[in-house]
Amino acid sequence: MNAEIILVGTELLLGDIIDTNGKYLARALASMGINLFYQTVVGDNRERLLDVIRRALTRSDILIFSGGLGPTADDLTRETVAEAMGLELKEDEETVKRLRAFFAGRNMTLNNLRQALVPEGGQVLTNDWGTAPGLYIKKDTKQVFMLPGPPRELEPMFEARVRPILEKESCRVFVSTDLNLYGIGESSAEAKLRDLMENPDPTLAPYAGSGEVRLRITSSGSSREECLEKNRLMLEKVRERVGEYIYAVDGESLEKALVERFSKKGLKVAAAESLTAGLISSRIGSIPGASEVMEEGIVTYCDRVKREALGVKKETLEKYSAVSEETAAEMAQGIRRVAGSDVGISATGYAGPTGENVGLVYVGASFKDKLIVRKLETRRTKLERNYIRALAANAALALALQITDLFGYENGEINL
Ligand code: AMP
Ligand code: MG
Repeated sequence: MNAEIILVGTELLLGDIIDTNGKYLARALASMGINLFYQTVVGDNRERLLDVIRRALTRSDILIFSGGLGPTADDLTRETVAEAMGLELKEDEETVKRLRAFFAGRNMTLNNLRQALVPEGGQVLTNDWGTAPGLYIKKDTKQVFMLPGPPRELEPMFEARVRPILEKESCRVFVSTDLNLYGIGESSAEAKLRDLMENPDPTLAPYAGSGEVRLRITSSGSSREECLEKNRLMLEKVRERVGEYIYAVDGESLEKALVERFSKKGLKVAAAESLTAGLISSRIGSIPGASEVMEEGIVTYCDRVKREALGVKKETLEKYSAVSEETAAEMAQGIRRVAGSDVGISATGYAGPTGENVGLVYVGASFKDKLIVRKLETRRTKLERNYIRALAANAALALALQITDLFGYENGEINL
């Protein structure tokens, strides 16, 4: 079976918004072993959309649409797909009821009822995350899925409505296990894992993370249990090669690992940030349960505040400068003392783009009698300012896990 993704929306075509649905769907299809040969972006225009749909129906078995299902006049996906497939539209009573319930007490404009139109033989994919329902049509050898455009609706809709249908149709289940690695580059990881990456089932493939390596193991089989067992065996092989870099299995991010593990151990953290200007705190704060572990975060941009708020010594700043191993160390110790936390972390560096030493970054961590400062190697390429800041935040978060011996996936939840 091969698939095609059709992204509908003039705003996408003109670059007013960035397409994330195409990326999401492509990765999801890959994880299911479904070939994807085309992705098309088309504006909200009936003729051109019709043309795209007709062409897609000649060359692909599975069509997945994103967007154009809303109530307004420029939302044309439903009507145009029905036209291209020669299907009449009928009102779906259940959807009308849902819409009326959603708008209860408020004024529902008539155009909202367009969202209840279903091509004959089609099936409504209930949307528990928004108003526009999705649609599924199976006709001859073709399967057509229409999903609402907002990513926070499309993503759960795919998982809850589309994936099960595709699995049922192919009589196979696909299970993925994601690994997060920190401290190794993508090319070194690939070099160590090359032969495993050529394995047909389970597959092992890298996918991009910001400044970290992520790997995905995917197997297919007739049951979830069978797949999990296959994934577990592959994970063991991966662990033999790059085990020391794996910090989480199905874990998502460094900040999530930090919040969950610190919270389990009853550890508190505080951050003193220079070039990251609150990024570290903000990333910790984005995780539910952050209040269990986060004590304090201070942005100490200028030397005066590094001295006054953290107690960094004047001589240290004068002798070694604000971007130095010594300053990072005193910042980490200083914030730990000021906040009274178990762990203090710090980041200082040059984010550029002008000036010397762009990309020179030091991160520090202080815990009990331990103090670690790490110099970052971000200078090899001229990186963008915010990317350097993101790498600095990653390094500080990773260091907080390492200094407390909480780095490593044995410490995380493994659901295998
Ligand atoms: P629509 O269903 O076409 O009216 O889309 C509703 C909203 O979903 C748009 O205004 C965008 O904010 C968002 N959206 C639509 N398509 C995409 C896409 N491919 N990637 C990310 N966001 C999208
Ligand atoms: Mg639209």
